[in-house]
Amino acid sequence: MEEKYLSRHFGIDKAYNLDVYEQQGGYSTLPKAFAMDTDAIIAEMKKSNLRGRGGAGFPTGVKWGFMPRDSDVEKYLVVNADEGEPGTFKDRMIMELDPHRLIEGCVMTAWALGLRTGYIFVRGELQLAIRRLEVAIKQAYEKGYLGKNVLGKGLDFDLYVHSSAGAYICGEETGLIEGLEGKPGQPRMKPPFPAIVGVFNKPTLVNNVETIAAVPFILEHGGEHWASMGIERNGGPKLYGLSGHINKPGVYEAPSGITVRELLERFGGGMREGSDLKAFIPGGSSCAVLLPESLDAQMGFETLREAGSSMGTGCITFMDQTTCMVRLSARLAHFYHHESCGQCTPCREGTGWAYKVLNAIEAGQGTPDDLALIQDMITGIAGNTICAHGDSLVIPVRSYIEKFGQEFEDHVQNKRCPFPRWRKMRNTQRMSA
Ligand code: SF4
Repeated sequence: MEEKYLSRHFGIDKAYNLDVYEQQGGYSTLPKAFAMDTDAIIAEMKKSNLRGRGGAGFPTGVKWGFMPRDSDVEKYLVVNADEGEPGTFKDRMIMELDPHRLIEGCVMTAWALGLRTGYIFVRGELQLAIRRLEVAIKQAYEKGYLGKNVLGKGLDFDLYVHSSAGAYICGEETGLIEGLEGKPGQPRMKPPFPAIVGVFNKPTLVNNVETIAAVPFILEHGGEHWASMGIERNGGPKLYGLSGHINKPGVYEAPSGITVRELLERFGGGMREGSDLKAFIPGGSSCAVLLPESLDAQMGFETLREAGSSMGTGCITFMDQTTCMVRLSARLAHFYHHESCGQCTPCREGTGWAYKVLNAIEAGQGTPDDLALIQDMITGIAGNTICAHGDSLVIPVRSYIEKFGQEFEDHVQNKRCPFPRWRKMRNTQRMSA
């Protein structure tokens, strides 16, 4: 059994309270961090091979190195806790069960980079996470881990929880920054990147919850130790959220580089009785779908790219033979259309058109021309937008058509969904409408 890091406190009663967290050794690495300077901390972060755990996978130490060093410039930390990718539910576990871990990581990050203010931007629906963080922050202020002159080491650091309005696009770092400033969450053109022009037009480090929660372990045990629990360029253990037609859905900690098969069988308890694996999505809804023949792919940014998909958030959805890929495409198109911020025409209009065509195909009202039309539409969206939101629909839908094209054709030729369960559900919806 591997040692637990990120999920170490998940089974401990009331570990979200400061006294329990301290009994478990929490905040004990802060003095070690305060004894290190910026260069030493960034060097450990680089050695750790920690990659951003929000989906983009940018090397964390390199990102930290982009922040300006001048001490008289106001700089900010923003923790991206706007977890909204369908199929992804790992960050909320850290915030609900181990909020002080995140706070300790924020304090260390602030010390390393000379930051005086931090915001944890939490998805509005995650009410328990918001309440736990607010209580934990209050406790940390009372104990001197936050506020003026933290632990007498000369660091002044204030940390706030900002509850978002629950828009998916605020998970994009510049959309998040706009939202934090009180404006509509519309992503900005990049460059400039947030490390130069971020929140309130000041240099800003934006990191995911799991990324910041890893910092106390990296500084406690050293970057090399963290890197050793992974594969090349993908360091450390990781939280994997497993969902779909499996026996034991949940959040599990395992090393980077573990295979999808091991996650499914050892942690997820295998497919449910009567369920055969049809396909899986390795890192959230915006990733390309993979077939059972890719089960031995390792969970890493490069390894999953080689397998034809991407690591994303590392939260895997397993689907069995009852899953209709056309219905899934239509549901995704509806989601991405609903969540489009509306700035770019290809995304605003294209996702809506794609939904209408996919929904018609699923309802048995599609024509042979619609199959070519949908390809045209998604080609028009791809790469023609300010942020990656449009591509987040294009990539999965393209992969569904590529791998399950016959299913799309069957819907058109037979003028109905071949899956009795979904046909029945649609008929019921029709009758009650
Ligand atoms: Fe907004 Fe979509 Fe354009 Fe992103 S791609 S900026 S979500 S309209």
